[in-house]
Amino acid sequence: MPTFDAIVIGTGQAGPALAARLSGAGMKVAVIEKHKFGGTCVNDGCTPTKTMVASAYAARIASRSAEYGVQLSGPVEVDMKRVKARKDEVVANASGAVEKWMRGLKGATVYQGHARFTAARSIRVNGEELEAGKIFLDVGGRPLVPKMPGLDRVPFLTNQSLMKVDFVPEHLIVVGGSYIGLEFAQMFRRFGSRVTVVEMTPRLISREDEDVSQALQEILEAEGVEVRTGAECLNAEKKGDRLTIGMGCKEGSPTASGSHLLLALGRVPNTDDLGLDKAGIALDKRGYIEVDEGLRTSNPNVWALGDCNGKGAFTHTAYNDYEIVADNLLSNAGRKWTDRVPVYALYTDPPLGRIGLSEKEIREKGIRALVGKRPMTRVSRAVEKGETRGFLKIHVEAGSRRILGAALLGTSCDEAVHSLIDAVYAKTPIGEFQRHVRIHPNVSELLPTVLENLVPL
Ligand SMILES: Cc1cc2nc3c(=O)[nH]c(=O)nc-3n(C[C@H](O)[C@H](O)[C@H](O)COP(=O)(O)OP(=O)(O)OC[C@H]3O[C@@H](n4cnc5c(N)ncnc54)[C@H](O)[C@@H]3O)c2cc1C
Repeated sequence: MPTFDAIVIGTGQAGPALAARLSGAGMKVAVIEKHKFGGTCVNDGCTPTKTMVASAYAARIASRSAEYGVQLSGPVEVDMKRVKARKDEVVANASGAVEKWMRGLKGATVYQGHARFTAARSIRVNGEELEAGKIFLDVGGRPLVPKMPGLDRVPFLTNQSLMKVDFVPEHLIVVGGSYIGLEFAQMFRRFGSRVTVVEMTPRLISREDEDVSQALQEILEAEGVEVRTGAECLNAEKKGDRLTIGMGCKEGSPTASGSHLLLALGRVPNTDDLGLDKAGIALDKRGYIEVDEGLRTSNPNVWALGDCNGKGAFTHTAYNDYEIVADNLLSNAGRKWTDRVPVYALYTDPPLGRIGLSEKEIREKGIRALVGKRPMTRVSRAVEKGETRGFLKIHVEAGSRRILGAALLGTSCDEAVHSLIDAVYAKTPIGEFQRHVRIHPNVSELLPTVLENLVPL
């Protein structure tokens, strides 16, 4: 039986860097990947979607070109074959780079196949049994396909199968009005599809504050995306070439029909086919692997990193998991995932940059807080770019006068939020934050100004 110091399962956002760091430290490492190198983010998540968001942005700016004094000689047309080819090239380069990196690692052996535990320290892949002192799970997740009446008789797309689409669907029904669904909804509307978003909860991105949900809904509707919220009792039906989602058990229009259906209802962890019971590894009720603050599972020789541990659902949280595990193992650093501040972005146009506590969470925790808010119409860079939709909102703790959280919805806010991230990690009091000179004209330069006009929450 081949024996290793470490086995890394999955080459998503934590596995490759961990394998490289461990092999660099002199360990004999096995890397196992069952599908494409780079995992979800590289192959059917962040990389392809943000590449396609860029194409959609180009289409949008082209359609607004006259506003900027630029005349096009004909109507704007989207060549979806070219959009897909551009995306495929970016993805292939990224995935190929991960594969080359892993295959070139000194001291590492790459296996391509599905890994399953056979015992606490052994893994079977392609009929071969491997053993290791330490095993690291970076197995990620996949799209949730719900138990919806009729869905078994209706063709549907997920973020994975949508990657193969090289045409503009006539009418795309997007079931799920959260982060993944909204990026696709706006993108395909800009490519030329009619788009209807069907969301079960009373508002879009319902984890965000109400003002954020409302502003984003207005932004999408202004571009012609149809939005149906509070849609309950969903069912699916196919009649001829039309796909229908039934939803009107309570109020509102009872159906939405279109040519294509995209399910964007969340993710499930890839933990059901790993033989975890053979290794004494516990799962929580939702199927995520239970971990302690250092990401160790209930088996002391096994760690779970990335989306499969349910402690984050982002590339940056998966990568941070790698840093925590590697630093703890190799430098005894005592790092914990619980030390991280929640940060993320939604890549609609304009994007939403988020950090820390929302207004709702602050109220639930009973924290005495102040809030500052400024519309993007009063941000000079946004005015100059002709992109004035959205607002900047920052929450501050009343006593310590430190930033608790922010929702920045506006042009470049996926970048602008980073100066707040640094301030939150550094526990910078806002008085000091306001003294730093920023570059004009920029969205970030207005963040201190937002903090000049705080009112009690
Ligand atoms: C449409 C979409 C857009 C997204 N956009 C963003 C974004 O803009 N920013 C962001 O931060 N996050 C984004 N995400 C989330 C991000 O993709 C994930 O958080 C990230 O990929 C998680 O990395 P991971 O390493 O945990 O898992 P994954 O990337 O899913 O990798 C897991 C790997 O493990 C392999 N594997 C699974 N089981 C086995 C097994 N038994 N044997 C061998 N190999 C196995 C899989 O094939 C896969 O390669 C997006 C996700 C989606 C779906």
